[in-house]
Amino acid sequence: MRQVLCQNKGNIYVQNGCRAGAGNSFLSLSLRTSTIIKQSFTMFNRRTRISEILKMEPAEQQVTVMGWVRTFRNNQFIALNDGSTNHNLQVVLELGKFDEELLKRMTTSASLKVSGTLVASLGKGQKMDLKAEHVEVLGDSDPEKYPLQPKKHSLEFLREIAHLRFRTNTFGSVFRIRHSLAFAVHQFFNDKGFIYLHTPIITSSDAEGAGEMFRVSTLPLINPPLTEEGSIDFTQDFFGRATNLTVSGQLEGELGATAFGDIYTFGPTFRAENSNTARHLAEFWMIEPEMAFYDLEDNADLAEAFIQYIIRYVMERNAEDLEFLRMRLLDEEKQKPQNERSELDLIEKLRFVVENKFERITYTEAIDILLQSPAYKKKKFQYEVKWGMDMQSEHERYLVEKHFKKPVIVTNYPKDIKSFYMRMNDDGKTVAAMDILAPGIGEIVGGSQREERLDRLTGRMDEMGVSQDELWWYLDTRRFGTVPHAGFGLGFERMVQFVTGMGNIRDVIAFPRTPKSAEF
Ligand code: ATP
Ligand code: MN
Repeated sequence: MRQVLCQNKGNIYVQNGCRAGAGNSFLSLSLRTSTIIKQSFTMFNRRTRISEILKMEPAEQQVTVMGWVRTFRNNQFIALNDGSTNHNLQVVLELGKFDEELLKRMTTSASLKVSGTLVASLGKGQKMDLKAEHVEVLGDSDPEKYPLQPKKHSLEFLREIAHLRFRTNTFGSVFRIRHSLAFAVHQFFNDKGFIYLHTPIITSSDAEGAGEMFRVSTLPLINPPLTEEGSIDFTQDFFGRATNLTVSGQLEGELGATAFGDIYTFGPTFRAENSNTARHLAEFWMIEPEMAFYDLEDNADLAEAFIQYIIRYVMERNAEDLEFLRMRLLDEEKQKPQNERSELDLIEKLRFVVENKFERITYTEAIDILLQSPAYKKKKFQYEVKWGMDMQSEHERYLVEKHFKKPVIVTNYPKDIKSFYMRMNDDGKTVAAMDILAPGIGEIVGGSQREERLDRLTGRMDEMGVSQDELWWYLDTRRFGTVPHAGFGLGFERMVQFVTGMGNIRDVIAFPRTPKSAEF
C-alpha cells in the first residue's frame, strides 16, 4: 500500500493515507505506525529526506526539508539538494510572498530549512514541487567566495577542494555507492557466519614484506637515543621496540581463523610506496577474509562469490547513482579516441561481471598467452615477458581487457615473486597464490592458500630472511593444531573504482593520502 507523509499538530508521520476516518483496523495500524515514526524525529531534525519525498505522490502533503541550495533562478525556483540523492527538490517561492532581503540570501550552497506543501509540478523535469510556506536560512554562503560554482569542474580541481566536493553530483554518487559497498561487505560475511576481527593498526612485525612501512615513533627526530653501534635505540621508544603502521592484517587474521574458522578484517592499511599511480594510495582500506579448512579453489570460489555479491547489492540499491555515473563515463569517454573507448558501458560491465564466471588460469598459462599474443609479437609490451617475471600492469591489462575481456583469476605463481607464507606446490617451483585481475583496474585481489606445514614454512622463512624469532606467535598456529587454510585481500578503493568507473583512486576515497599530499 502506498504510504504518504502526514502532518498533524506539527508532528509528521507516515501512514497509508492522511484522512483518519477509515475503519478501525486501519486506525489502529496508522496509530501504531505514527507512534514509531514520531519517536524517530528529534526536536530540530524534523525533516524528510529528498530521496523519500521523490518516491511519494504530490498529494498536498506538508513536509519540511533541509539542505543546500544548488541554484536559484527567476527569484522563484530553488534547486535544493540534501545529499540523499542527486535529484534536487524544486522549491517554489511564490512571487511577492517573501522578503527581498531573504531572497538575496538564496545563494549557491546556502543551507535552508523549508516547510511547505508538495504539489504536482507545472514545470518539466520534475514530478513535484515544494510550494514554500516557510523558509529559513540556516547558514549563508557568500557567492563571491564559494569555490564550487554550479558548472562543470575538472576532477583535478575538485581534489583541491576535497572538503566541498561531496556537494557535487559525481562525488555524491561515488560516496553513496562506497557506503553501500562497505555495508554489503559486512552483510556478505555476516550471512556466511564469519567473525569480524579488528586487527591492530600499529604493528611491530616488519617481516611481512607487503610493502614499505610508515614508522610509528615518539622518539625525538633530532638527536634520538642511539645504541652502542650507533643505530636508533628503539628500546627507548614508546612501545619499547620499533613499530609501524600495518600493511596488512593477514598474519593476525590467520590467528583468528585458526580459532573461529572463518574471519574477515575490514580496516585501514598503509604503504609508504612512492608510486604515483592511479591505483595506489598510501592509506587505503582492505578487506581480508581468512578461512580455516579452505584450499586455493575454495578461496577463489569465495572471492568470486563475494565480488559478485557486493556488485549486485549496489546494482539493486544504487541504480540511480550508477545511472548517473554511467552517463558521466560515456561523456568522459567521448574525449578518447574510438579504439580506447570501452565496449560495454558501466552498467553493462557490472552486469557482465555478476552474470559470468570469472576466467581461471595458471600463471604458466598466462605467460603462454602473453608470449603468443599479437601485442608481444609486435613488441608492444614495454617489459620483457618470461616465466618467473612479476607481471606488469600492461600484461595484466592485456589479459583481462584484450584477451579474456572479463575478470581473471591467475593461480600458482613462481615462489620467488610471492610471500613466504604461501603454500608450496608439489612442483617445488610455484606456490598456491591467486590474484584476481579486473578490467580497467588490474590487481583487485591478492590471496593464497597458506603454508600450514611448520617445516616448510620455517624453511621458506630462512630462505627469504624472515625472522622466526619475531614471528614466534605466528608459527605457534602451525605448532598447535595446524590446518589447511587460505585467505585473500581485496583493496576496497580498487573495488569502488571498478564499480563507479572512476579512473583515479584519489576520487573514490574521501581524503586521499598520496606522496606529498595529506591535506584535510
Ligand atoms: P599492486 O601490485 O597493485 O601494488 P600488491 O601486490 O602490492 O598490489 P597486495 O599486497 O596483494 O597488493 O594487497 C592486496 C590488495 O590490496 C591488492 O590486490 C590491491 O587491491 C590492494 N592494494 C595494494 N596496494 C594498494 C595501494 N597502495 N593502494 C590501494 N590499494 C592497494
Ligand atoms: Mn604493491
